[in-house]
Amino acid sequence: MTYRNRSFLDLAHKAPCFADFPHECHGWQGCDPAHSDSQIFGRGHGHKSNDWAVAFLCNTAHKMLDYMDREDKQATWLRAFVKTQNYLWESGKLKVVK
Ligand SMILES: [Zn+2]
Repeated sequence: MTYRNRSFLDLAHKAPCFADFPHECHGWQGCDPAHSDSQIFGRGHGHKSNDWAVAFLCNTAHKMLDYMDREDKQATWLRAFVKTQNYLWESGKLKVVK
C-alpha cells in the first residue's frame, strides 16, 4: 500500500528549500514536495512514490531536478531528502506519539 497524506505534503508550502545546487531560489514563495523517482521509495510505472518520500524544493529547483540525468538526480534528491527529514524532526513538525 502506498502511503498518502495531503496534510504532510502541505508542510512543504511553508518550508525552506533544501536544494544544494546553484539555482535562483524562490523558496520564500513556498516549496513543493518533490517525490522520489526511485523504485525503492515506492515509485512504479505511472505510480508516485510514497508521500513520506519527498524532498522540499522550491519550484525552480524542482523543475531543474527533473532535467538532471538519473544518477545526478538521485544523489541530489537524496541529499535534499535528508535535509528535509532533519528539518521536519528538528523543527517538531514530525513527532513520535507515545
Ligand atoms: Zn530553491
